[in-house]
Amino acid sequence: MAANPEADWVSRFADEVIAEAERRAPGKPIVCASGLSPSGPIHLGNLREVMTPHLVADEIRRRGHEVVHIISWDDYDRYRKVPAGIDESWAQHIGKPLTSVPAPAGSAYPNWAEHFKASMIESLAQLGVEYRGISQTEMYTSGAYTEQILLAMRERGKIDAVLDRYRTKGRTGSGAARQGKLDEDEAAAAQEAAEGSGAAAEDDGTGATGYFPYKPYCSVCDRDLTTVVAYDDESTELTYTCQCGHTETVLLSEHRRGKLVWKVDWPMRWAYEGVVFEPSGVDHSSPGSSFQVGGQIVGEVFGGQQPIGPMYAFVGISGMAKMSSSKGGVPTPADALQIMEPPLLRWLYARRRPNQAFKIAFDQEIQRLYDEWDTLGRKVAEGAANAADTAAHSRAVGTAAGLLPVTPHPLPYRTLASIVDITTGDPEQTLRILRDLDPADPVASLDETRPRLDRAQHWITTQVPAEQRTRVLAEPDATLLGKLDDDQRESLRLLLAGLDDHWSLEGLTTLVYGVPKTRLGLPMDVKPTPELKVAQREFFALLYHLLVGRDTGPRLPTLLLAVGPDQVRKLLTP
Ligand SMILES: [Zn+2]
Repeated sequence: MAANPEADWVSRFADEVIAEAERRAPGKPIVCASGLSPSGPIHLGNLREVMTPHLVADEIRRRGHEVVHIISWDDYDRYRKVPAGIDESWAQHIGKPLTSVPAPAGSAYPNWAEHFKASMIESLAQLGVEYRGISQTEMYTSGAYTEQILLAMRERGKIDAVLDRYRTKGRTGSGAARQGKLDEDEAAAAQEAAEGSGAAAEDDGTGATGYFPYKPYCSVCDRDLTTVVAYDDESTELTYTCQCGHTETVLLSEHRRGKLVWKVDWPMRWAYEGVVFEPSGVDHSSPGSSFQVGGQIVGEVFGGQQPIGPMYAFVGISGMAKMSSSKGGVPTPADALQIMEPPLLRWLYARRRPNQAFKIAFDQEIQRLYDEWDTLGRKVAEGAANAADTAAHSRAVGTAAGLLPVTPHPLPYRTLASIVDITTGDPEQTLRILRDLDPADPVASLDETRPRLDRAQHWITTQVPAEQRTRVLAEPDATLLGKLDDDQRESLRLLLAGLDDHWSLEGLTTLVYGVPKTRLGLPMDVKPTPELKVAQREFFALLYHLLVGRDTGPRLPTLLLAVGPDQVRKLLTP
């Protein structure tokens, strides 16, 4: 079943990819591809590299076509730098394949690449992303690409000429930097993404001894500080020297420790796998970039075709600065999935065209985002959402394989966040408050509010700064209570008198908005006037001061429910 054939960007790409695949390889499974480099924690921004082809492949699958989404793990790339938080001694491994670098201390995984892949693999499973992972280490070391490597070496003159067309144009900084529109966070994310992508300032194979697109890893030091100094097309004898002092002659037809340089490797794989759709970040899509150069090389050398490759805009993170400083790193998809459910994260990608930038909220904005998501869910259920919104919702909540797990009783995220903020997660107290929220549809157990409850709790405890947390006063503010005027006293009296009859989220909402109406002699169903709004604002500020000692806090009905009737009476009685 197609999600919605007419309206959204996913459907339009699916149309294009199906038609193109029919032209290129009729009757064969359609290939969509992503590439990820496990050179460190895989940045949340890089998830777009996966989600864009995932959504398109999923739509193609929903329409009944055979399709495969390849995720190429670029784990045979060189280790480039020691990330923050890792012991300096890892610098000795710079230049080795990522699968030959020891995992960070304490890791359960056999090497660097496996360690950083593991978290991404877990996140992709939670997100319902169906894919075939291909380890480039396995492909290169098994000799799968030998024929392609020999071909690239034979055609090195042609490749050099293609690269030369772009070399003369010169490059100034990364594509992202040249856009000139990115703010500092986004520029940092762009930089991280570019460094993780395999495209960052890699040498393209040019050396004093000529142009060779193959780069051996040294058989003594395992690093790629090598230079090919001679190659014979007939015998495939290749001689390289290494900065460590080693010199060796190998038979390239049998050699397994080396790889094609990135700008040749990528188009080689397009041809090898028959990729029809593979998007790329702006760092890959600028003039002279690997995507553009690859488009020439794939046809002229490998006899293949460039995939349909939309450029996707960077995904920023709001609240990232705090994250970085506290964790010494960038947020990963696993970090996002600790504060939001998989359908919400999928929705963020599904609802924006790939060329639209957006931010993933780790700050207060996540509450508004969840409200928007819940509103959309209601509209879709009522059939009141437009076609594009309905399609995005359908892509978020499930895949061709079925629906993703949901929270059975999805209470508003901001309500849950406020409650666990106040109860500091105490299960009994949390359940008591959740029961009181809506007596017509009471919560029977915490489990029915999970996993959303756990996400809200994780968000409150890890992302909300201490000064923004809510602390209910233990004792009444005697000073403030002593200074109340008659009007304030009467307002508090009316509120306390109505508590028992209004003890639900809806009831307390009516009550707190109603008290100022009564004081002004207005009917309960009056339209808000400027005078009433002022009176309500002043009354609410008074309540916040008396309950939590600040001007503001969680929504008052939620706060009152959470504080409980006894403590409310204690704190509000002059
Ligand atoms: Zn060496």
